[in-house]
Amino acid sequence: MGARFGIIGLATMGQNLALNVSRKGFSVAVFNRTAERTKALMERVKDEPIVPTFSLREFVGALEKPRAVLLMVQAGKPVDEVLSELFPLLEPGDLVMDGGNSHFLDTERRLKEAEARGLRYLGMGISGGEAGALRGPAIMAGGHAAGYAQVEEILRAIAAQGLDGPCCGYFGPGGAGHYVKMVHNGIEYAVMQAIAECYDLMKRGLGLSPREAAEIFGEWNAGELESYLLSITVDILRTVDGETGSPLVELIKDAAEQKGTGKWSTQAALDLGAPTPTIAEAVFARIVSALKEERLSAEKALPGPSAALSPAPEGFLADLKKAYALTVVTAYGQGFRQLRDAAAEHGYGFALAEVARVWTAGCIIRARMLSEMRRAFLHHPDLPFLLLAEPFPRLWEEGHPSLRRVVCAAHRAGIPVPAMSSALNFLDAYRTGRLPANLIQAQRDYFGAHTYERLDKPGKFHTHWEEAPRC
Ligand code: NDP
Repeated sequence: MGARFGIIGLATMGQNLALNVSRKGFSVAVFNRTAERTKALMERVKDEPIVPTFSLREFVGALEKPRAVLLMVQAGKPVDEVLSELFPLLEPGDLVMDGGNSHFLDTERRLKEAEARGLRYLGMGISGGEAGALRGPAIMAGGHAAGYAQVEEILRAIAAQGLDGPCCGYFGPGGAGHYVKMVHNGIEYAVMQAIAECYDLMKRGLGLSPREAAEIFGEWNAGELESYLLSITVDILRTVDGETGSPLVELIKDAAEQKGTGKWSTQAALDLGAPTPTIAEAVFARIVSALKEERLSAEKALPGPSAALSPAPEGFLADLKKAYALTVVTAYGQGFRQLRDAAAEHGYGFALAEVARVWTAGCIIRARMLSEMRRAFLHHPDLPFLLLAEPFPRLWEEGHPSLRRVVCAAHRAGIPVPAMSSALNFLDAYRTGRLPANLIQAQRDYFGAHTYERLDKPGKFHTHWEEAPRC
């Protein structure tokens, strides 16, 4: 009897997924380009049914037919390299799943190549990091529906078990799964940025220590704002460097890196015309942070106000909590909006309630509020923007005065809050029935004869602005 499941790529994710699958009682054959990683995995194995193999041919031969192969290799060119060797070894009906962070358009292309060979293909976003891979990640699949059905039992078993079922789902054809994962990561960037802004306001604005900030974040995390990212922030702020005894976070260089999924999410949103400014600002904030040397020079060249909020505005921490909540829900709302637009554009057809359900456990953006988001989309499947459905209008009502006070205080003190201020700008623009875009249309028509529509009559109009009567 061959193994039920195969995994290629045994770095952090592949190793832990292999253990997870085998601990659920499914036999797994594994292969890694460099044999050392396969050996390292086998050292962790106790009684788990894991079969090590040391060539792709041996790996393929070790699998039960039709085969089910999960790729967990570095995204990009390595996936194409592995596929070019793997595809010729497989037989029609076999299934290949790419579980890495591949771009959804690469997945669409690879799926067509697989199809041409009679193979099934799934692009499968997996979130949860090392611990999630081992104990239960969130799995976002797309591609061949029959391929998903082939492995659904295994995926449901290894996924995080949420209150509303296993956190895995099939989101439609083509690159749908990787699209959902990409937007997940975009939201992740925005939430991380919002938390970082709160930390900066607490630290530079209020002069709080990391430990004091941890206590405040811990309080937030004890209520409806509970989330994985807040909980790890509490742990991080409490961690002390073994060598110096100082808070470790204060010793870490303030230059954020990125692997590109936030950028892809923003690029895809721009291509669609979907408004995700809070996610985009989070990507730009990482880019600015990476300019460490330039920032050090500019700090001297461009002096500004003192960052201390002195005296601290009354009720500032209560305001900050509400400002954070509204910013975070706005970022999720922008992400869901992008998914809604992408479903229509690419024919993915995913249900937003199902996306919210899959994100309730296992993934990096899991949060208590996702259950309410799921309910909102269950009641209004076509909801254009999350904040329009109960219970979120209350969050707006109670939160926007706080968000305004926090953004004003931050701007006065010269503390950058790109995520929070872009959320506020977006919300104010979205709820404004009459924006100044009429002037932009007039300017476009003036210099480019691009025409404009009028409010008082239908049709397209052009004015010879230079000759037109003036007041
Ligand atoms: P890495 O992204 O670090 O990739 C390393 C693995 O890719 C190794 O097994 C390596 O083999 C293999 N590899 C690289 N190039 C090639 C190649 N040309 N041919 C064959 N194999 C190659 O591993 P991770 O486990 O961190 O991530 C795997 C995937 O999952 C990535 O797409 C990542 O973005 C995604 N992901 C990662 C998360 C994380 O927390 N780490 C979370 C969610 C998704 P070798 O040992 O021979 O070098």
